Amino acid sequence: MKLDLNIQPLSTWINTGKEPLVIAGPCSAETEDQLVATAHLLAKTGKVAALRAGIWKPRTRPGEFEGIGSIGLEWLKRAKQETGLPTAVEVATAKHVEEALAAGVDILWVGARSTANPFTVQEIADALKGTDVPVMVKNPVNPDLSLWVGALERINRAGITKLAAIHRGFSSHGASTFRNEPMWDLAISLKTHAPDLPIINDPSHITGNRDLIGYISQKAFDLDMQGVMIESHIDPSVAWTDAKQQVTPAALVEIIENITLRKPEVKNAAVSDKLAELRSKIDKIDDLLIQKVAERMTIAEQIGKHKKDNNITILQVNRWEEILKKTTDYGKALKLSPEFTEKFLELVHAESIRRQGLILNEGLDQPKENLTHA
Ligand code: PEP
Ligand code: MN
Repeated sequence: MKLDLNIQPLSTWINTGKEPLVIAGPCSAETEDQLVATAHLLAKTGKVAALRAGIWKPRTRPGEFEGIGSIGLEWLKRAKQETGLPTAVEVATAKHVEEALAAGVDILWVGARSTANPFTVQEIADALKGTDVPVMVKNPVNPDLSLWVGALERINRAGITKLAAIHRGFSSHGASTFRNEPMWDLAISLKTHAPDLPIINDPSHITGNRDLIGYISQKAFDLDMQGVMIESHIDPSVAWTDAKQQVTPAALVEIIENITLRKPEVKNAAVSDKLAELRSKIDKIDDLLIQKVAERMTIAEQIGKHKKDNNITILQVNRWEEILKKTTDYGKALKLSPEFTEKFLELVHAESIRRQGLILNEGLDQPKENLTHA
């Protein structure tokens, strides 16, 4: 599926001359002094392309600081006047859009909680009609590519062509190293569907932990994302929101200086020949892999038929556990992580089970398995 998005290059709306591209600023505008002083320090680094600050904050629980509100727009105006940095804020309603545009905010973004709600996104899109302000759309809190794509389409159809996606990770259940799981495959999938759409990574909200921001930023650039948005506060220890993930402007400089930018294309002939040779090896192995998986499915179907003829259940837990153990052990010996082998086997096994189900229940109405969402 190729997306039909009409998009202008990033360089038409943000200074892409400073490499890597960094948008930075506090999670929230708290006071005029905090915002303006942070903006001055960020501008002085010479490494920041735009100043971000949340003034309307979507909080998960009521009673927490919900943003300073419209007065923050005046502070952003002052920060921009004094530093020359273009400004960016989150908008979640039509009123936010109108106020932000009236105050001369340069870039708007749609937050993760808003992207998850098509009504909200449509309201924002309608308010944007007739303008050409740049808009960045964060991924929804839940790992649903269609919702992310849908939000980008709604904004684009409203006539916004200065468009980017922000990858900020996804909520997940249970303990994790990250505040929001990166689930890189979803961002890569978006890139495959819309190759012209710039993707900005948000390592602050992915990690929730300032010590991991450099690591995630590097990974984002290695995956050919176009920039990062990093929360930076003059004194993170007293930040009113997201204190653990904000960095001082000085720490931000260190993170940026440690990033290595690698090239997506290879210009040197010897390097590109070597790459082509290795890729051709990979292609051959992929062909074999898929051929073997197909063979495995055929055998699984034969087993399905045999089970049907003899009235045996599809899933025999012992057998599955045995396969899992035997194969992850073998994988370990071949230096594959047990997590990877298990995930791979589960995917293959789920497809085997699905096919056996079709055979066992031939003649019954089958629900259509659908990998995309409504
Ligand atoms: C933010 O950028 O401060 C924010 C609220 O992020 P998200 O929408 O990604 O949670
Ligand atoms: Mn934040």
